[in-house]
Amino acid sequence: MNSLMISPSGVRGIVGKGLTPEVISELASAFGSLRPGKILVGYDTRTSNQMFKYAVFSGLLSVGCHAIDVGICPTPSLQLMVKDTDAKGGIVITGSHNPVEWNALKFIRDDGLFLYPEEGEELIRLYKRGNIPRAGWNKIGKVSFDDQAVAHHLQSILRVVNVNEIRNKKFKVVIDACNGAASVISPVLLEKLGCQVIRLNCKPDGIFPRPPEPVPENLEELSKVVKEHQADIGFAHDADADRLVLVSEQGEPLSEEYTLAIVTRFVLKEKTKGPVVTNICTSQTVEDVVKEFGCQIIRTKVGDIHVSRKMKDCGAVIGGEGNGGVIFPSLNYARDGIVSIALILNYLAAENRTISSICEELPRYYMIKKKIESQGFNFELLKEEVIKRFESEDLDFLDGMKIKLPKGWVHIRPSGTEPVLRLISEAENSEIAGKNLKWALELIERFKGEGK
Ligand code: MG
Repeated sequence: MNSLMISPSGVRGIVGKGLTPEVISELASAFGSLRPGKILVGYDTRTSNQMFKYAVFSGLLSVGCHAIDVGICPTPSLQLMVKDTDAKGGIVITGSHNPVEWNALKFIRDDGLFLYPEEGEELIRLYKRGNIPRAGWNKIGKVSFDDQAVAHHLQSILRVVNVNEIRNKKFKVVIDACNGAASVISPVLLEKLGCQVIRLNCKPDGIFPRPPEPVPENLEELSKVVKEHQADIGFAHDADADRLVLVSEQGEPLSEEYTLAIVTRFVLKEKTKGPVVTNICTSQTVEDVVKEFGCQIIRTKVGDIHVSRKMKDCGAVIGGEGNGGVIFPSLNYARDGIVSIALILNYLAAENRTISSICEELPRYYMIKKKIESQGFNFELLKEEVIKRFESEDLDFLDGMKIKLPKGWVHIRPSGTEPVLRLISEAENSEIAGKNLKWALELIERFKGEGK
């Protein structure tokens, strides 16, 4: 099976089954030819990364780029380093939240953001066309080492939170880095913030003891350790630390949707007010929090680049997505699970409260996420049908379709990378969310077999 998926939003695949050093090298040379100069290269801890790292170097050098090996490095650390140096771009080799057999490349612009969709398309066009112009013997690039990205990220985070206030609380914290890239930064950050740190899965060896996606069902061990140690809070990352999910002091894993809601509440209440940006299918909880402070919420298509780009355009004070990815622009327009830790501890310290009491205050909804096969499904016919059945103010086609239903909503979106439909149903309670999801599934069933 060839698992390779190439789209403007990224390139990923299963190691050895489509994702090979040849593909990686070719993509790196395409990227380098579009951004001649210094390119920073970082990676998570996956066992395939040594192999792919040399393929990336090889591709970059062949087009005359200067590759800088920054070592094991979370994606947000590399994004910040690219922004704050004269680098022309960056490449992170990371399968992010995907299972251990997967890997992928993330491409970064010189301002620290991911490639814009049109730039991603240009890169893929060049890769598919082939014949990338290579440097002659006297123009070949070189590799050098610089391990300062993580230290720079740490120092920068300590400048945007109230360190003394946090240190005074002497929090007891469990950190679960899934043996990924966060292992080299989050425990150190917590120590600098005066915490008593209990390290869980913080060995950067790429052997993941749990699925890397930080969602409540994968955080059983973290919950247990938080309870055993009577810790104040537990934090879990994915493999490249752009996401963060919380476990309360009672050992309850909080939905990944709450990370953004909690950080947003802290920023709007204690720091600064202004617009907030999130994607179309992030929980209503975030919207309610934003409205509580009389601020504006702007929704975008799904994908962090859409959120970051809009945040930059409108001067947002906070933003992110419902997968545990928070973007705090005072630091960088990057999803950053590490600065999220500092912001959440700052919230606990500033208000002298527990995480569960902060959480209780949030408007609670019930959300179900589901993925179904979309083979033979015709999205356009479904769209025509819902336009006939609903008032236009109850429909939103910004990305896929969001349908407002009594006491909730459903969102249906064909995946850009796999033949699947992603469904989300959120409502006031589990019964309504389930009923609405069932309704959507029945509707979809009618349009199966009518597609191309
Ligand atoms: Mg990630």
